[in-house]
Amino acid sequence: MTFDKLDIIPPILKAIGEKDYKHPTPIQEKSIPILLRKKDLLGCAQTGTGKTAAFAIPILQHLHEEGQYKGKRRIKALVVTPTRELAIQIKESFTDYGKYTDIKNTVIFGGVKQGAQTQALAKGIDVLVATPGRLLDLMNQGFISLRDIKYFVLDEADQMLDMGFIHDIRRIIDRLPKRRQSLFFSATMPSSIVSLSQKILGNPEKVTI
Ligand code: AMP
Repeated sequence: MTFDKLDIIPPILKAIGEKDYKHPTPIQEKSIPILLRKKDLLGCAQTGTGKTAAFAIPILQHLHEEGQYKGKRRIKALVVTPTRELAIQIKESFTDYGKYTDIKNTVIFGGVKQGAQTQALAKGIDVLVATPGRLLDLMNQGFISLRDIKYFVLDEADQMLDMGFIHDIRRIIDRLPKRRQSLFFSATMPSSIVSLSQKILGNPEKVTI
């Protein structure tokens, strides 16, 4: 299997070609076709499996195909992940795979002053990568609206619950539009995770690797 068999559009294939990837990883091979069909996805996969590309590539492709707003960009894709390190890595993946598209992203996380983050948001972006606490904080201050979100990713859900983010996650999902594509990734699937996934996903395809 090669990436060019996966119906990925040329600007994204070109960016992947500049990486030293010979083949899609199993999670990529299984998830990318499902996500390109705009199905919800429940993915059981750990970090290191290539799951970031598995969700970033289809989201970039959808946003590229939808084209640009005439006015200011509004956030159309939201990725929520538990830690600053993961958030930064995910943001860099969107930048890398999207380098030949016109899709703009930024990343927000706690533990630092918010000024640079609110300035980046004010310029208008398509994809926001965020940790839960800072996301809610900037939403509550009116810097972020989730009104136009069409693609939502909850990454590392089990780690998120272990870190005590369940209430934050519930508040975030309450603010999401009902019509959206949702992706949910967790390394483990205890019953608490399955029930959270059912609140977020509508009739998902399941991928386990
Ligand atoms: P992730 O699981 O998304 O954190 O990715 C783990 C690492 O695998 C990252 O350094 C990626 O750059 C790399 N990677 C992603 N997809 C592939 C691929 N198809 N072939 C080789 N490496 C990859």
